[in-house]
Parts: sequence; structure tokens; C-alpha cells
Amino acid sequence: MTYKKFRNEFEFAVNSVREEGRYRIFRDIRRKSGSFPHATWFRADSEKDIVVWCSNDYLGMGQNECVIEAVKSAVDSAGTGSGGTRNISGTTRYHVQLEKELADLHNKDRSLVMTSGYVANEATLGVMSKILPGLVILSDEKNHASMISGIQRARCKKIIFNHNDLTDLEIKLKSLPLKTPKIIAFESVYSMDADIAPIKEICDLADKYNALTYIDEVHAVGMYGQTGGGVCEELGLSNRIDIIQGTLAKAYGMVGGYIAADEVIIDAVRSMASGFIFTTSIPPSTAAGALRSVKILKVTPEKRVKHQERAEALKDRFRLAGYDFIDGKTHIVPIMVGDPVKCQAISDRLIEKFGIYAQPINFPTVPRGTERLRFTPSPFHDDVMMDNLMIALDSVWKEFGLDKKKVA
Ligand SMILES: *Cc1c(COP(=O)(O)O)cnc(C)c1O
Repeated sequence: MTYKKFRNEFEFAVNSVREEGRYRIFRDIRRKSGSFPHATWFRADSEKDIVVWCSNDYLGMGQNECVIEAVKSAVDSAGTGSGGTRNISGTTRYHVQLEKELADLHNKDRSLVMTSGYVANEATLGVMSKILPGLVILSDEKNHASMISGIQRARCKKIIFNHNDLTDLEIKLKSLPLKTPKIIAFESVYSMDADIAPIKEICDLADKYNALTYIDEVHAVGMYGQTGGGVCEELGLSNRIDIIQGTLAKAYGMVGGYIAADEVIIDAVRSMASGFIFTTSIPPSTAAGALRSVKILKVTPEKRVKHQERAEALKDRFRLAGYDFIDGKTHIVPIMVGDPVKCQAISDRLIEKFGIYAQPINFPTVPRGTERLRFTPSPFHDDVMMDNLMIALDSVWKEFGLDKKKVA
């Protein structure tokens, strides 16, 4: 137990997080299948029924009966784990079919499924400099931690451009020789700020300055576009993006991530990316559930319409009540708090007194001073739940003497 000699260091690390008011408390919950978004919260000495307001299972597909059936039936036919890496017996019929479906979803030749969306970003961006010697990656300043990690792994030149700022991006592209290989890495829907990148304009700049485009559509796949192919599908831009990255863990309600691209790109990543090669493939049942989920969401645009309608309904209520929230064009509705301690306290009170679960979002997920409560209404969050939320927020704001317009 050598660690005991370093016990102080570990304690110091935890204490510094605690002192900043951003010590993380994981809520122990069990979701109730069939009554999304209801769940049970397990406390030390009691249980409480709650409504989850912060899930990324945006459309409740994690409890869709057909998806559940697909998972069960795959377990019955193929067992639990895949039994290997993709190269060593871990490529099953389920993986192959899922990859075909995802390629079709994004109108690309092929796709490549990985263990998570995080891994897909890290592994793919991380290997790009091996494939493209002299590569420069231009990265939006608000990119997700997984992209940042991938770019660090690539150990190539990295240039950060201001969030969604085309002028800044162009200045930075212009500063590089035209023939230098470049990748512009960005997201479609930014999940903490509820805004959307100017995708077409970024593609125009990419054409002009000879750059590849890499887009993270994690918070858009399943939810935007006629068949759930993301914002790129909605805007008819899929064919202008070189690599589209997505997840199976949010709107599709399973776990796993992927990229979709032309044949030669997928072949190169498949052959060289460590995070793809040296890890066991996702369970067949997970691939089967994801496949079913993707297929369902392809043909049920009404779920997307309802999702947007519910998000608007919540924004209407926040607007009317005068909360300081991000009034964006997406399904994500964050109320700004701006202080980690208050953010945690509000969240605690909401769940303890009202059974409303909204996790505080603190640093390092968002910059310090921009702490927020992020609400993700689904098609299953009805008017009654929304009215209850408004009553609860009003009560907590009054109890804490907070100003709706500016909390911190
Ligand atoms: C959640 C998230 C990921 C990671 O996806 P997982 O499948 O959860 O690993 C990647 N990018 C963004 C923008 C995310 O929000």
C-alpha cells in the first residue's frame, strides 16, 4: 500500500475541488422502464420518486419497447460480450449491420463503431497526424474534452479559434500555407451553450483554404434532420463534411460511438487508430439495440417534432417567468447560475423538496463563473411536469433570495 505515503497528495487534490464548491456528488438513481422520465433516487436511508430533467437519453429511446426487445433477443441468440477486439473475433453480424446502417444514415460509404463517442473522437483525431504528416488542426474553443484529448494525442500543431467565429477562423486558416494539411474540428450542436455552428460557412472556408472538416454531431444525431442524420442532414451538408462523428448513447439510448466517412478514410482509421484497435468491441446486444434505435428514429420524424415542441414549451415558460437562460435554437435549455456553490444548493433543494433532478453543471465542464442548471426536456416531459418545475424553481429562487435575472 505505497499510496499511503502519498495520501496527502490525494486528499489535497480532492480538497481543492471541494473548496471551490465543485465536489461532485453522483446521484444514485434507477430509471423506471416504461415511465420515462421517472426514476427512483436512493438516499442513505430512504428512497424518493423523482423526475429526471437532465438526461441525455433525449428521446427516451433507452426505454423504447422495440429497442429493449432487440437487446433481449440478441442476448438470447449471441450471449453477452462480443468476446474480442474487432480484429480478433469481435466483429459480429450485429456490428456489421449497425455500421452499414450508420453509413446510410449519414450518406457516407462506411462507418466505424467504437466503444463510445469519447473514444471515437479521441481515437480518430488522435491518429490523423500519422495519416497526414505536417497536419494542423483548427479547433473551436468550445470543443468537447474528447476532441481536445484526441488533438493532444495527435501531437501536431493545434490552433484554437473563437467559438463559432468565422472571421477568426479565416484569419487563422489564411496564416497557413495552402498546401499544409488542415482539419477544422467542430461540433454541430454545442450541448452546454445550446447553440449551433455555422456549418455551411465553415465548409466554405474549408474549401477555400484546403482543409478537411470534422464534425461532432453527438447532440444532434437522432434529433435533427429528416431521418435523424443530424444538423448536417437537416441543412443538406453531409456531403461537404469529411468525417461525421456521433454517439449511440444519447438520442439512441444505448452506448457506443462512431465515425462515418468515405471508404479510404474509414479504412485508414480502422487500420491505425489505437483506441479502435486495442479494445473489445461493444456487446452484440448493444449493437442490436442501437441498430433498432437508429432504424426507428429514421422513420419517426414526429418524435423530433414533439421533442422540439416540448423544448419550446419549456423556453416559453422560462421566458415568461423571466429566468436568465440560454434562449437558443436547440432542445437544450440551461438556466445560468454563475456560481458553483449556489448551483449545487439549488440542485439539492430541487431534488430533496420537489423530486426534480437537474444536475449542476460546473467547471471543468463549463468555464468558471458560468455554472448552470441544464434542462433537457424530452417528448415525455408533459405540461404538468413543466408546471411543477416552474413552481419548484419559483419556490427555491424565493427561498434563497435569488434574482431571476442574475443569480451570482
Ligand atoms: C457526450 C459527448 C461526447 C462523448 O460521447 P459518449 O458516447 O458519451 O462517450 C462527445 N462529444 C460531445 C460533444 C459530447 O457531449
